Amino acid sequence: MPDAAPRLEVFGLTRHFGARPAVDDVSLAIAPGQVTCLLGPSGCGKSTTLRMIAGVERPDVGVIRIDGAVVCDAGQSLPPEARSVGLMFQDFALFPHLTVAGNIAFGLKGARADKAARVEELLARVDLPGFGAKHPHQLSGGEQQRVALARALAPRPRVMLMDEPFSGLDNRLRDGIRDTTLEVLKAEGTAVLLVTHEPDEAMRMADEIALMRGGRIVQRGSPYNVYNAPADRAAAAFFSDINVIRGRSRGALTETPFGAFLTPGHADGAEVEIVIRPQHLKIDFDRGGRGPNPTPVEGTAARGMVERARFMGRDSLVEFRMDFDGSKLTASVPGVFLPRPGTALWLMIRRDRCFVFPAARKPV
Ligand code: ATP
Repeated sequence: MPDAAPRLEVFGLTRHFGARPAVDDVSLAIAPGQVTCLLGPSGCGKSTTLRMIAGVERPDVGVIRIDGAVVCDAGQSLPPEARSVGLMFQDFALFPHLTVAGNIAFGLKGARADKAARVEELLARVDLPGFGAKHPHQLSGGEQQRVALARALAPRPRVMLMDEPFSGLDNRLRDGIRDTTLEVLKAEGTAVLLVTHEPDEAMRMADEIALMRGGRIVQRGSPYNVYNAPADRAAAAFFSDINVIRGRSRGALTETPFGAFLTPGHADGAEVEIVIRPQHLKIDFDRGGRGPNPTPVEGTAARGMVERARFMGRDSLVEFRMDFDGSKLTASVPGVFLPRPGTALWLMIRRDRCFVFPAARKPV
């Protein structure tokens, strides 16, 4: 990540609708060429945050700076067109009566020749050279999206705000457009705030993920860190299915049917949840039939009965009913393996890959 001064800075942004805060004390800093994804479930406040930065919603409290200059604080709020922000939404609606070149040049000021040069430059950037004279209805969905990107970039916004911009595109198109978009935005040095509720999209696009819940940012970090070191159980669950085993910590260890887990930092007697992603639950083919056999990484095997197995292509998702307490656990195993329901198998946990959290008050 570049060490440049942040292009976009947001401090303590808060917005209530009625008594409830929709956005609660959100702070962010995004450098030139950096992509930050606001990721979270529906209703967590992502769009409201974006709308305040765009200038179409006024915060109750908070400060927004672009390239160090205040565009919104308690005393003032610049209108959207004075903020140097570009906007891209799912419904990007090109002007149907204008040509591609006309659409891209729409927000540009200055001499005709300069505008034409900028349009040509952007058409080349989004890989649509020679498309300037066409009309939107002559373009595919993906081509229209690239024109929308060129239009948003034309006035050289310092910040690009994107709200689920790719969700209207079919899967085959989406990956290519995402990559083109990233390349262009990085080349222009634009700071990007992208709103999405899809973890896969955030992981693919983001330099930094800001995970939101209930109006607040609950975790910020690189996709790698947020996935591999989630702040809590819900953060872990946002990225994949999870398995949860509950136990009580004694002397920094928690005994489970899979052996003892290290649970340092939890008080003696405290209830803990051990959270395991399905890909870190392993079927023990070699030793299982001979029963428990502890190893430092994988611990003890426990037996379960296959209830259901779904072939997913590269992987199979196998649901087990465990002998020890009748609970359900789900393992993701290579797709070449698809056990029949009713098969008894032994499972082990990659304990270097699981997360330990204080138990939620009510088991979910
Ligand atoms: P989604 O992914 O579904 O778009 P979101 O995370 O973008 O959700 P917001 O649209 O920011 O969420 O909404 C956050 C909360 O604020 C929601 O509970 C929503 O109902 C509420 N809200 C948003 N705009 C308004 C408004 N103008 N008036 C009243 N409540 C609002």
